[in-house]
Formats: sequence, structure tokens, C-alpha cells
Amino acid sequence: MWELEVSSSFSAAHRLCGYGQPCENVHGHNWKVVAVVRCEQLDAIGIGYDFKALRTRLREILATLDHHDLNATPPFDAVNPSAENLARWVFERLAEKLADSPARVARILVRENDDSGATYSP
Ligand SMILES: [Zn+2]
Repeated sequence: MWELEVSSSFSAAHRLCGYGQPCENVHGHNWKVVAVVRCEQLDAIGIGYDFKALRTRLREILATLDHHDLNATPPFDAVNPSAENLARWVFERLAEKLADSPARVARILVRENDDSGATYSP
């Protein structure tokens, strides 16, 4: 079993509704997203899943959030755009994109900054 990792980032505004702290006010982050996928076999040249292709899939997903007001962007107009919920949403989107490949998403880490982040795995 191999675990492969790629990362990318996006910038967006959000507010955490119901938080009752300054994070309830609109503010922004430069989120960093790390995707880890598992592969049980390698291809003929020793690659489990091409890093470049994997990063492209991740970037396609994050492009739908980049420079957006997350609280006005579905599904986060109805679900609080916390790092936790973002991680689960990215996991589900990436799992859909990899459904026809031998790679399986293991976990997604979403970091709001160097000190705080949330990892989702089912
Ligand atoms: Zn925040």
C-alpha cells in the first residue's frame, strides 16, 4: 500500500455562523489543502497515481472556491464553511473524480493557517 500526497491552495472569505467570536465576522484565509490517496499497485514505471494529474484534480475542485465568499457558495450557503466541513466536501469531490481509477482518497487536510487545520477521513 502506498499513500501519495499532493497539496494546493485557495483564497476565500468566510464567516463561521453561530460561533460567537471574531471568526463570526467576515474574514479571509489562504487555505492550504493536502490530499492523500492510497494505491495498492504501481504501474509499469513504478507510479501509483501521477502527482501532476492528482494535483490537477484537486485544483479543479478548489477553483470552484477560490476568491469566493464561501458563505454565498453552495453548499456553504447552507453548511458552515468550517475547515472541518471544507475537508469533508473536498474529500467527497475528489473521491468522485477518482472513482474510475485504482486510487482511493484516504484523507483531506484543510489548513486555515500554519497553526490550525482539520483532517477528514470517512
Ligand atoms: Zn476563518
